[in-house]
Amino acid sequence: MAVKNESHVLVVGIDGVRYDSLMSAATPALDQIARNGFLLPVHVHRKNATISGPVWATVATGVYADRHNVTGNRVHPLELAAYQDFTAVLRAARPESRTMIAASWFPVAAATACGPLFSSRGWVPEEDPEEANDGGSWVSADDAVADYAAGRLEREDLAASFVYFGEADVEAHNNGTGIGYISAIQRCDSRLKRLLEAIESRPRRDAEFWTVIVVTDHGHVDAGGHGGETEAERTAWIAACGERVPRDVVAVDHADIFSQVLATFGVAAGDTDGLVFGARRDPQEQPATTAAPR
Ligand SMILES: [Zn+2]
Repeated sequence: MAVKNESHVLVVGIDGVRYDSLMSAATPALDQIARNGFLLPVHVHRKNATISGPVWATVATGVYADRHNVTGNRVHPLELAAYQDFTAVLRAARPESRTMIAASWFPVAAATACGPLFSSRGWVPEEDPEEANDGGSWVSADDAVADYAAGRLEREDLAASFVYFGEADVEAHNNGTGIGYISAIQRCDSRLKRLLEAIESRPRRDAEFWTVIVVTDHGHVDAGGHGGETEAERTAWIAACGERVPRDVVAVDHADIFSQVLATFGVAAGDTDGLVFGARRDPQEQPATTAAPR
């Protein structure tokens, strides 16, 4: 019998997927993760606006906008330089670790607008889908991200990865949260399935632990749009399964992903706003050890 001794974590970000829309979509890949772990609604923390830049920065760094200071999508604040993303912290603690960032929204991984939100930077498609900003440009960009990420997940030994898909958010902005939005969510689930299949086809899969975390950043109003305080905008969600992911998680926060990824490798998260999965009792609970704000 193979002895499992190698930890791996894949974090998948799917932008702007409203919780109730997700519930009405057919998402077999996400359902599989929820069955093996949990899927919970997440109230976007009051310190973060219901906007992509601040929330993805929190996913990357484990701290909220009062510390990373990403308050919108346009400006890359100086304060963000103090916060490395979880893949960078992992590599610093375990230099042998290989990691990957791949994203269709350029600011996640490249030095443009509010980016790079992930300090490591990463791979983005050749053409920026925001230039045309229509359904076709985002479908192509997300498909390219899925191709790239699936290829590397299958062939390489990636300890920690972040892979981002953006077409659902743009569909809601362009056409509202109707049937086209549900289709976009379902295509993102198919891309998630490709990533899961790439992991399952790894030659030494039996000897490996894999944790998969899937997360959205915010919801949308019915007509499309976010940044406000309605429940539809404030309600995001996180799903996860795998090593060190309890099934009885009752509350989880965007800031927790950083702590959870590092805990998988036995690396301390340091002074962040997050808790490991299972430690949080209330949605907006703060870590007891939070130091004075910098
Ligand atoms: Zn958006």
